[in-house]
Amino acid sequence: MPRAKTPFAAGRLWLDFVNTDEAPRHALGDALASFDGYLAWLEHAGLLDTARRGALQRRALEQPASATATLHEARRIRSALRPLAERGTHASERVTQGAVMEINRVLGRSTGVRRIGYDARDGSFHRTFVPSGDAFAALVIPVVESAADALVTGELARVRRCAAEPPCPRVFLDTSRSGRRRWCDMRSCGNRQKAARHRAASRVGRRSPPAG
Ligand SMILES: [Zn+2]
Repeated sequence: MPRAKTPFAAGRLWLDFVNTDEAPRHALGDALASFDGYLAWLEHAGLLDTARRGALQRRALEQPASATATLHEARRIRSALRPLAERGTHASERVTQGAVMEINRVLGRSTGVRRIGYDARDGSFHRTFVPSGDAFAALVIPVVESAADALVTGELARVRRCAAEPPCPRVFLDTSRSGRRRWCDMRSCGNRQKAARHRAASRVGRRSPPAG
């Protein structure tokens, strides 16, 4: 997993999806700027393989309006999920209802087949969901399922936005034991904040000579 290159560090798929909007901060730009970008992100997230992505790209050339509509829907879902992720359980009722409405709209039309997969390499089993409906519309289902899980399991209480200054828009799931993680990523924002605190502390130290 080429983790260093990507912002895929939020801990949950739906939060990584919300973080795709950080165009000005990231070399990859907004993953939802184009339908191709959306497919690339889905492949990167492990939701599409290369062959499937190619098939969807070809279909998008044949049905550009449908691809555009799919992209717009993904953006709308993302903007409904962002305020929920930023505020977690402190989100307003309007924000929470808005997100639930988007989630339910997608879940309501998700038809497919549930299966058990078996990985012979390590003998593990996993659940899979094979959508049988429209291929474009089904792309966002795993993202929405992930957000639904967060709500149902109470995990939302551990979801927050990075506390860095200047503001960093990334959201993440705090899996720390203490529940006091503040930064999206220790290597970027965490280190930056520590350095800033250190600089501030040494400025204060210079201004006030030690007592005694
Ligand atoms: Zn951050």
